[in-house]
Order: sequence, then structure tokens, then C-alpha cells
Amino acid sequence: MGPKSTAFIKTALKAFHATGAHRLTPTAASGLGAIFMLHNVAPDTGYEFEPNSFLRVTPEFLEDVIGLVDDLGYETISLDEIPGRLAAGADAKPFVCFTFDDGYRDNRNYALPIMKKHSVPMAVYVPSDFADGTGDLWWLAFEKAIRQSRHIDIEVASEHFELPTRTAAEKTHAFNRIYWALRKCPEADARATVKTLCENVGYDPSGMCRDLIMSWDELRAFAQEPLVTIGAHTCGHYALAKLDDETAFAQMNESITRLEDELDLPCHHFSYPYGNEMACGPREYRFARRLGMSTAVTTRKGLIHASHKLTPTALPRLSLNGDYQDIRYVQTLLSGAPFALLQAYENLARLPSAARSLVSPRRLATSIG
Ligand SMILES: [Zn+2]
Repeated sequence: MGPKSTAFIKTALKAFHATGAHRLTPTAASGLGAIFMLHNVAPDTGYEFEPNSFLRVTPEFLEDVIGLVDDLGYETISLDEIPGRLAAGADAKPFVCFTFDDGYRDNRNYALPIMKKHSVPMAVYVPSDFADGTGDLWWLAFEKAIRQSRHIDIEVASEHFELPTRTAAEKTHAFNRIYWALRKCPEADARATVKTLCENVGYDPSGMCRDLIMSWDELRAFAQEPLVTIGAHTCGHYALAKLDDETAFAQMNESITRLEDELDLPCHHFSYPYGNEMACGPREYRFARRLGMSTAVTTRKGLIHASHKLTPTALPRLSLNGDYQDIRYVQTLLSGAPFALLQAYENLARLPSAARSLVSPRRLATSIG
């Protein structure tokens, strides 16, 4: 799902929110269930400039979501149970699964106590370089560098950015301008650019992984928790689709082997870093199957349907996004209505533009209501 689809879903969410239309959606749209995607779980920091805060939800919001899915009659299951649910189809109770990417220590400190309190399984996908303490959390390093800078002067893929970064608004503007240029260029180049930027402002990001991510020792203890499943997330957290066949396969294979060796547990589950269409596709889905993964998750937005029985290594997820910590948005997403609407809207894209311009997400949502 590209930025346009994401923008569509956000607009549709607001429209459904305003109209209450999601309550009228047929149950078929809600499918078999959902896999939630989270990253950080921690209290708010209060920083005015914090562009990666969409990756963090508060412990209170996580607990509210658990309460919501319980009220709606969903069963909370582990990743190991998903193949069975796909085989059972609509005969089984609807399910949700909670997954967390990257192995942040706050998953253990803040999320685990809540999951234990409510007996809810959780899966954490860890890049092996991150657990080693040598990985590159470049998107966070980029934020830190801009936070302590007053002016940015940098080249990204032969585009020159010279921007003031004194105020929070200027910092946010600079981050947004440069971030997507970085995401589009070869990842090694993007990381080198961020490294240069960090050097220019005097910030050393080398301790970031050790500060934020669970070490192997911590993961070994964490993995012993009965509710916890650990999945693989490559070695170096690269967008696999940008790598050649051999390197992409090795990134997946070595990370799975490493997890199994370090934790002395089998690894059956994988998450593609970044997870959108720029980061993974049919080649990676095949690799995951070849490596014996029983599930693999993307960041494509959607619910789990019976048809995913055929594509268990290309599963969509629902992001619990820090910018949308409103339980009504989660209920709307679980209804499946925004995705049914997106499908309808994409079908309309085949119409002549004059007809298409008559239909907005808000108008569609309102007409469904
Ligand atoms: Zn990740």
C-alpha cells in the first residue's frame, strides 16, 4: 500500500468517525481477524519535535485496545495459531494477534506486564544486528541529529537540502522533506547520509541499539515468557526488495538461524523490515516459504481473510499508530469498512476522470452510512 492508499485510509477513518458508518458494515468485511503491528510502548516524552512518535503507543492505549477486542468478541492468539485459523476459515471465532517490530526494550518493560495481566500472547520480531548492539536505527539517529541541529546542509541522491532547524516547526519541515528522499535512495546511501549528518552535528549514534533494544541475554529471558514468541526481522533491517537475490536471501536466512542458535528455540515467523511495496514483494514471500516460515507479515494495511491461507508469508497488518490513539479508529479498522471502501475507490480509478472526481472518500463513507 503506497502513500496515496495510506492517505485514503486516514481520510476514510475520519469520515467513518464522523458518521458512525462503520457500525453498519457487513460482517464479511471484517474477515477472520487482524494482526496488530506495534513498535514502541511507553509513556509520552513531551518532546515537541518527535517525528517517529507515530511508532509509539502509551501503555494505557494498549490496554484499551485489549479491552476493545475483548468487548467485540475477538480471541487473542499467538502467531503459531494463525495457520490453524486460516485453515478453519469462518468457522472459528474472530481473532487478533499482537506483534511488535524491532525488539525495543520497552516491549518488555511496558507491554509485557499488560499482556500478562490479560493473558494476551505477543510476538516480537528482532533484527539480529540490533540484538548484537551493532544495528543501525538510522530513522531515530536522523531524528536525534535534527533535534540538536540549528541548520541542515546535506545532499541526498544528488538533491541538495539546505534548511533551518532552529524551531520545532523548522525541524519537522526539514525531517519531512529529507525523510522520503532517504527512503527512496539505496539504503546504504541513506544510512551513510544520516551518519554524515550525525557527525556534522556532533551526535554519536553508536550506542543507540544497546540503549533501546533488548540484548541477546535479555531476549533469552524474555523468550521464556509463555506468552512471548520471537520472530526474525533480517540481520541488518534493510529493505529486502532493494537488495540482490543472494543478499536478500542471506539477510533472511542468517537472521533466522541466528535467532534459533541464540535462543535455542525454533523460529517459524518473520517480519519484512519497512514491509511496504518498496521493501518486499513476491520474491521475499517465496524466500520466507522456502525458509520454512509458517507466517510472515508485511506493513500492508488490511485484515486477515480466508484467502490468506494461500499467502501465509504475505500477511497484512493493522498499525496501532501513535498519531491515532483513539479506540474508535481501531474499531473502525477492525470493521473492515475502510478497506472495503478503498477497494471500491480503486475500482473507480478505472472510470473516466470526470466520473471519478464526483466520488470522495468522505462521500463514499457517508453513502455507506
Ligand atoms: Zn522494523
